[in-house]
Amino acid sequence: MSQETEYKLCSRCLARISRKFTKTRENEKCSICDNLLLHEDKIYRMIYNKIHKFGIEFDTFHIACQVSYDELNRAEKIIHKSVNYQGNNGLKKQLRKDLSAMIVEKMGKTLDYKNPEVIINIKIRKKPYPHTPYPEIANLTVFIDTNPLFIEGRYRKLVRGIPQTKWPCTHCKGKGCDCCDGTGQQYRETVEGLIGKHLLPMAKGKQIKFHGSGREDIDVLMLGDGRPFVIEVKHPFVRSIDLKLLRRVVNSHSEGKIEINDLKFVDNSRRSSIKNSSVESYKVYSAVAEFENGVTSNDVRRIEQLNIIEQRTPIRVSHRRADKIRTRKIFNLDVERINSRKLRLIITCEGGLYIKELISGDEGRSIPSVSSITDNNAVCTQLDVLKVHIPE
Ligand SMILES: [Zn+2]
Ligand SMILES: [Zn+2]
Repeated sequence: MSQETEYKLCSRCLARISRKFTKTRENEKCSICDNLLLHEDKIYRMIYNKIHKFGIEFDTFHIACQVSYDELNRAEKIIHKSVNYQGNNGLKKQLRKDLSAMIVEKMGKTLDYKNPEVIINIKIRKKPYPHTPYPEIANLTVFIDTNPLFIEGRYRKLVRGIPQTKWPCTHCKGKGCDCCDGTGQQYRETVEGLIGKHLLPMAKGKQIKFHGSGREDIDVLMLGDGRPFVIEVKHPFVRSIDLKLLRRVVNSHSEGKIEINDLKFVDNSRRSSIKNSSVESYKVYSAVAEFENGVTSNDVRRIEQLNIIEQRTPIRVSHRRADKIRTRKIFNLDVERINSRKLRLIITCEGGLYIKELISGDEGRSIPSVSSITDNNAVCTQLDVLKVHIPE
């Protein structure tokens, strides 16, 4: 039996591939497309209904198509080869092309291959899917995937004791135990959570991910105009968030603990650029240093001249960071005397300088340090960040 009689094609496939094959009769299935190309209006309906059922908002989209139906894939290959088909419209491509055109025309959306807000996945298999509304396309289903939404802003942290991001309970490692009231979290509130709990329902998303331009310790305030961050919403159904409303809601519900400002939508490239400190970025800190012995005016002069600091990874973070030595520059250091054993240091420096260790010396791991140049043990008893500058 020749291939021309073995395979039967629907009117669509005959027209687009080759007229050499027998046309399917009623109740027969096309060897290439399983008659799906005859029911594209129903596939479109299925996509449309899914989008509306979940209330998915988007402007740009792209369609992906997956055929896990060996007989179809094999027949298509053989048929293309037997007629030396030169076009490049396989079933998947034809479906994507036709349905994209329908979505553009009927829904007014824009096709975008590079950075679509939504990816419409068409899946085809041999076995019918359960609960399908159209018997003619029972072995086809549609999944809608939404790309993450990114919002940039700046946060101020006005009370101590709140970490920037989620921190699993040290006893149960996040599973939930008596120590953490079953939450799995070491701290009830985080900067991430105070923003996320309002943003997530607004965006009808699944999960929040927080990307800060560095982070301050839990006991450190973030003052001035705040620290830049990008907050990511995974699988959002709504993208047109009212950022003024988000800011107002977060700020009024945070009871003065945090404040967010300068919110704007950004694309995913900003997520990494905000995290990487560059040569143009610098930070300003206000640190209180308490000394073992009285501080002389000569000591103050020496402290103000601190410039290049070599820091080995601090003992307190060595369990989670690689042990290495890095060099950081202090651009300016001003000293205000609080009393004979207590100074306030206003430090303008490169990002990445550990301030607590700059003061204590961290058992010789930070060289020089406030302790070493004054030969007087000092500890940082209070630290605030006054400015985090990053390139726009
Ligand atoms: Zn066909
Ligand atoms: Zn726990």
